[in-house]
Amino acid sequence: MDWSQTAEHIARRLTELSGFTATPGEGCTRLPFTRETREAADYLKAEMAADGLETWEDGAGNVFGRLPGRDSALPCIMCGSHYDSVVCGGNYDGIAGVVCAMELARLLKECGTLDRDFVVAAFMDEEGCRFGSGCFGSRAIMGRITPEYCHSVRDKRDGSTVAQRMKEYGLDPERVAEAAWAPGTIGNYLELHIEQGPVLDAKGIQLGLVDCIVGIQRYMITIHGQSNHAGTTPMDMRLDAMDRAARVIVRAGEIARTKGRGCVATVGYVEAFPGSYNVVPGKAVFSAEMRATEQELVDQMAAEIRQALEEETADGLTFEMEQKANTPPVHLSRRMTEISEGICRDRGFTYRIMPSGAGHDAQIIGQGVEASMLFVPSRQGLSHCPQEHSEYTDLLRAVQVALELIRKL
Ligand SMILES: [Zn+2]
Repeated sequence: MDWSQTAEHIARRLTELSGFTATPGEGCTRLPFTRETREAADYLKAEMAADGLETWEDGAGNVFGRLPGRDSALPCIMCGSHYDSVVCGGNYDGIAGVVCAMELARLLKECGTLDRDFVVAAFMDEEGCRFGSGCFGSRAIMGRITPEYCHSVRDKRDGSTVAQRMKEYGLDPERVAEAAWAPGTIGNYLELHIEQGPVLDAKGIQLGLVDCIVGIQRYMITIHGQSNHAGTTPMDMRLDAMDRAARVIVRAGEIARTKGRGCVATVGYVEAFPGSYNVVPGKAVFSAEMRATEQELVDQMAAEIRQALEEETADGLTFEMEQKANTPPVHLSRRMTEISEGICRDRGFTYRIMPSGAGHDAQIIGQGVEASMLFVPSRQGLSHCPQEHSEYTDLLRAVQVALELIRKL
């Protein structure tokens, strides 16, 4: 197998794809249903066709390339990731997995015909940057996007709906459900992705085998106190909503640290009202997000934060804790992880079995299909920024493991 050619293909395609951005010189900005996405989709189709794959685009804007197996009636092996990006993001998130999948198709073709079809997938709008809710393309193939959804979800900035943007892009939102794959037609899903975190790079580990994608709960919390004069109201006679919010925020971090087992809790948004030097805040609003590999742990963190709110507001304040998101953790295929582990051991690659703290298309597809993910190190753990970087040699290593995994499947 000529691996130098593989490295060359990956490097060339990632470089060429980095040109399809709305912010040249300031990282990759490829939002769904835009000119940049169209250019990238056309490029992917042309490249896959040049490698002899049968290519098409579905009703959700996903791009596919098929390498036919001996029996196309058998459930296929699908491999891919997303081809959209965040605003001013990097040139690896998502797209590196698409480019690696394309290269896998070429290598598999060289190896001879598989029993099953191998399908390269490039998904639309995983990030959810424009419309707020991500994994559009992967949810569409799982039959979870309806025309009603496309008419109701709006661009956060200009208020246009997904349906309007789809029409401009040349897609018919009334036919989005046709993007769904019938249950049982996808036998396995494999996603190569950059880690987007610091663990592999910091520990010098070559590959991450993802066993679980964490569950997430998000809340918007409001504490109501009483606005009052900041000079004349003694400390023991005020109902300061921000003071109580601060106490709860500190406790949220402690709750996650005490639980351990990879639990994380984040307060990323805080606002005090009316928001003035000389007014005791009568209202404080803040977000709370918790993630863990077990539903039970996420539920416990949420319950303990509620408990903290009750305690900190017990003397005359009130609070609301409104759930904004609740995504269960998804456990990926143990069988596929074990096969990858064996391959890493045989080849002498260092690896770690780890959860993914970020959401991915594999999280959606993994709910109905035997799925697995391979992580490659992200330099300094940086992602969603122009400095995002992964080494081609690391991507190549992931391709080598994936190739063997697919052949063993
Ligand atoms: Zn991604």
